[in-house]
Amino acid sequence: MSNDAAREKYKAYLVTKGLRVTNQRLAIFEAAFAQKEHFTAEELLDHARAIDDSVSRATVYRSIPIMTESALLREVDIGKNLKYYRPNTDNNNQVAQVICMDCDKIFEISAPFMSWYGNSVSSKLNLTPVSQRLQVSAHCNTLRETGTCKNRAQG
Ligand SMILES: [Zn+2]
Repeated sequence: MSNDAAREKYKAYLVTKGLRVTNQRLAIFEAAFAQKEHFTAEELLDHARAIDDSVSRATVYRSIPIMTESALLREVDIGKNLKYYRPNTDNNNQVAQVICMDCDKIFEISAPFMSWYGNSVSSKLNLTPVSQRLQVSAHCNTLRETGTCKNRAQG
């Protein structure tokens, strides 16, 4: 899905929710879809304000659930009361998320076997799968062995 297609989907979804398509909501969308790495709600607020400084924190926090419900954003909950997001540009709901708990790095790995697994367990229940996720929490071997890792946040 291109950014243009995603933007149209977002606008249409806002309308179905009875919400107006405002410059602030569009700035949040543009900020989210410009990101290549996972981001938090607070980081999204900063990025959105760089586009439109009238974007409020409340609008960001109300927009995120709209974008996750409509599958425009993928959500990664790593515990610690912290959620990360990334644009679902490849429209791929068959991803395994591997989280390095030591370095706070999130890897997403395409996992087509999940599609087979989801279909097979759902069909036994006469259900059709919509999305699924696999999340693996891991420790960093590189950090343990060498005392340092390039994935660790600096500072
Ligand atoms: Zn590491």
